[in-house]
Amino acid sequence: MEKIKMITPLVEMDGDEMTRILWKMIKDELICPYVDLKTEYYDLGLENRNATDDKVTIESAEAAKKYGVAVKCATITPNAARVKEYNLKEMWKSPNGTIRAILDGTVFRTPIVVKGIEPVVKCWKKPITIARHAYGDVYKSVEIKVPSAGKAELVFTDENGNETRELIHNFKGAGVLQGQHNLNSSIESFARSCFNYALDRKESLWFATKDTISKKYDHTFKDIFADIYENEYKEKFENSGIEYFYTLIDDAVARVMKSEGGFIWACKNYDGDVFSDMISSAFGSLAMMTSVLVSPSGIYEYEAAHGTVQRHYYKHLKGEETSTNSVATIFAWTGALRKRGELDNIPELVEFANKLEKAVIKTIEDGKMTKDLASITEFKNPVALNSLDFIKAIRETFDNLD
Ligand code: NAP
Ligand code: MG
Repeated sequence: MEKIKMITPLVEMDGDEMTRILWKMIKDELICPYVDLKTEYYDLGLENRNATDDKVTIESAEAAKKYGVAVKCATITPNAARVKEYNLKEMWKSPNGTIRAILDGTVFRTPIVVKGIEPVVKCWKKPITIARHAYGDVYKSVEIKVPSAGKAELVFTDENGNETRELIHNFKGAGVLQGQHNLNSSIESFARSCFNYALDRKESLWFATKDTISKKYDHTFKDIFADIYENEYKEKFENSGIEYFYTLIDDAVARVMKSEGGFIWACKNYDGDVFSDMISSAFGSLAMMTSVLVSPSGIYEYEAAHGTVQRHYYKHLKGEETSTNSVATIFAWTGALRKRGELDNIPELVEFANKLEKAVIKTIEDGKMTKDLASITEFKNPVALNSLDFIKAIRETFDNLD
């Protein structure tokens, strides 16, 4: 069989530890035998980030901007222990943070749903994608511990020195204070990324805040979303048969729990922090969660939501067998290849990505899976495979699909 030809290269961002091992297995077994793979390769492994003073991370993000589609392996975010372990020149910043800042993007996380790994919420039939706004609010707040009685005010001084004041509280005794902010430009980018991604997946977009209580702060989020929707996206949504739905955050939570899924839930920063963990644990497994960074101008970077699976890597280094789940990393590749195929108009590449995803799901539904899934599946006698044998089993399923 002739290999599928590509036109534009994918930006390939390699990473660390066990996921770096899986990365190579996936390419060797599942992609390169079928696709004449064209990538521009960036090694974001911690050693190379250290050797290049982290310039490689910035260059990889610039390449994503240039070509439009990237696929990323999980990477170590250094802490004190890693600085020692890898003898680092500096405690380099999180690559994901650096890339997100350069692309001004929003992260969307979607669980991969398979039979046999049932969500704990029984009515959820389709995946729920969570989008988290990644700027401001409580994460960039300033706080004061109020020691005693006194007056607290919110003061804004404009460039000409004019002040706007608002009384926060006349304290009769000790208490606490917090100042939060956000930026219209950041909320606008978030909104556009969400609307674009909803169109991309052909799924409705939900957004919620507490605008009835927070009549200026949260209401601004609501208004910006509404304006951008009306002026830029309404027609496209209607043509795609999807909707933009706004409600209060508590109402949204109640509706999410009773829904059957199949939509994108855009969350303010804190809500996204809390609810993304709720969604991912309720759907079953971190190893089955994909993640895509989408910029407001439509650049896509695909990855798995989990980390480098350090514990498994140390077993691997000792020569012990591992059973690490490669599903989310495979879906990062299929997501990126499908998007590349759509942009370059290569239907065979789109079909390949769809077929490979089908093969992954069928392999699990046939009872072959890694240990993490075997321990939670509702299937009676699952076969627990090691890291490589699971990937080989997917290849066999793929070759036998028509
Ligand atoms: P992790 O790599 O996600 O793994 C945590 C645990 O979850 C694993 O020990 C394993 O449990 C289970 N797990 C996660 N993915 C799995 C998979 N594919 N197959 C089977 N089990 C899986 O998180 P971490 O150990 O906290 O972090 C390790 C490194 O990853 C850190 O250096 C961190 O900076 C980095 N990280 C990177 C990203 C990213 O690049 N996007 C995201 C998060 C963390 P058991 O040990 O019980 O088998
Ligand atoms: Mg969290």
